[in-house]
Amino acid sequence: MKIEVLGGAREVGGSCISVQTDDCKIALDYGTKLDEEAPKLPRNFDAVIISHAHLDHSGSLLNLSDNNPVIVGSKITRDVTNELLHDMIKIQNEEGNFQFYDEDAAKISEAWLTRNNIALPGMAIQLQSAGHVAGAKITSIEAENKKIVYTGDFCLHDTEILEGCNPETLPREPDVLISECTYGGKTRPPRKQLINHFYKQVSKTIERKGNILIPTFAFHRTQEMARRIDQAMENGTLPRYNVYTISNLAHRINRYFQENKRLFTQEVQKQEHPFQYRHVKHLNRTRQIREPAIVIATSGFGHAGASLRLLTQWAEDPRNSVILTSGFLPDDSPLKQAKENRTLKDNGETITVQAEIEQIELSGHADQNELIQFINNLKPKKTILVHGELEQAQALQEKISQITDAYIPEKGETINI
Ligand SMILES: [Zn+2]
Repeated sequence: MKIEVLGGAREVGGSCISVQTDDCKIALDYGTKLDEEAPKLPRNFDAVIISHAHLDHSGSLLNLSDNNPVIVGSKITRDVTNELLHDMIKIQNEEGNFQFYDEDAAKISEAWLTRNNIALPGMAIQLQSAGHVAGAKITSIEAENKKIVYTGDFCLHDTEILEGCNPETLPREPDVLISECTYGGKTRPPRKQLINHFYKQVSKTIERKGNILIPTFAFHRTQEMARRIDQAMENGTLPRYNVYTISNLAHRINRYFQENKRLFTQEVQKQEHPFQYRHVKHLNRTRQIREPAIVIATSGFGHAGASLRLLTQWAEDPRNSVILTSGFLPDDSPLKQAKENRTLKDNGETITVQAEIEQIELSGHADQNELIQFINNLKPKKTILVHGELEQAQALQEKISQITDAYIPEKGETINI
């Protein structure tokens, strides 16, 4: 059996791993890197398994639209990926890059099998909940008398709306575990503490009548954040204030949360309309905002859209806050520039950032402790660390070296099992 790491080696982005036996060849994820031209991934797979609907795991799928592919993943992963691909086509066509059309995205959805079990020649594949985001799956493969587990992105701890993954249900002592390690070198305070920190930052800014920008991803993080603030205003944890989401994509994705209520915690399931908010309004444009306000906006890394516009508009006022909930920020992210250099580029001019920028890592990834706990539970013979920057992977490698043979591959490397 051959495992080839086609993307996501020593970096976050463009996840794709090929698993090949004598009888068949599959891809685990088929992602893209947002700051690069789409990678030219191979197309000759018998099946492509998509762990979840983040573009770094699914964003190259349009390249398969003429291949009659077999794509496997959960129903919400299919539906949200479809929205994301249509959005991608729209943006690219607006930029004059007419490589794909809406019918290409439709072909991907039509080719999708929303099953948790699939059999290929000489290979059995099983998908189980991964935590992380709605519908995210961990993939287990049995072939040639070997067991392989691929985490995709995963989370052990429960969040307000989603339960963490249960490692007890995964295969024991797999021959190979292919694991993400986004937070391989980082530990986080308990989630409760982070959420209290978040409420404090929001309350503090409300007291000085400032605006609060919360850049997030359209899928899952926007819905989770909107519900968090909505509930806090309903139960009095936060005072009432203008709260908006600005992302048409996030708004479209909301309906899949309602349709897939059973994916969430008992508490969410008990409510009839858990993602219809009482204190949070959806807006189409930033000029509809009545300040002062809390705004949840895309893009998550501030590269474009309402989050970049509001960041630029609000950066110079020290009453304002920007709350970053992602621990990872790409080097070219304007949010990273604003946080680390306290400057921003706006049409060639440099703005000095006076707004408070607070990073509160309400992430859906396992941190170092969870990764060690997970690996200790599974006891894999070999562990291949992907989806993490080199320092993160190395920090984890050192911590787990007593439990497993941990390896950090390079992009394009093939590992024979
Ligand atoms: Zn993800």
